[in-house]
Amino acid sequence: MRACLINPIKKVFFEGLVYSIEPSNGFGGFCDCGGIMSQKGWVEDWLMIAECENCWKVEAFLYDNYRFVERFEIKVLALIDFLNEILTESEFEALVQKANGVSYNYSSFNKAKRKLEEMNLKLEEILDHLRGTQLP
Ligand SMILES: [Zn+2]
Repeated sequence: MRACLINPIKKVFFEGLVYSIEPSNGFGGFCDCGGIMSQKGWVEDWLMIAECENCWKVEAFLYDNYRFVERFEIKVLALIDFLNEILTESEFEALVQKANGVSYNYSSFNKAKRKLEEMNLKLEEILDHLRGTQLP
């Protein structure tokens, strides 16, 4: 997976790293369907996320030094689904168990923690969101 928008934490995953989005609004371009896209936010000045008001497609617009480079569709994932994509099952389990204050596999947890931190995600923030999550 190259990129996705992560809800509800309002961050974007792009090429291995997670970035915060500065909310914005306004015209975001035209969609393939003919609809108008509205801006959802920016990562600094190089990545704009926009959503079509007609078909709800979400696209990322990539810039380099204010020059438009490319646009591509991105998925919108709930945090839990995103974590399931980037972590192994045992890493995800350990993270949820830790968040819920029950016993967990120490080595799986450490691997999960390292992966999150390498992506610029803050462990405490993720644990806050996972509190109360039930494992299947
Ligand atoms: Zn559209």
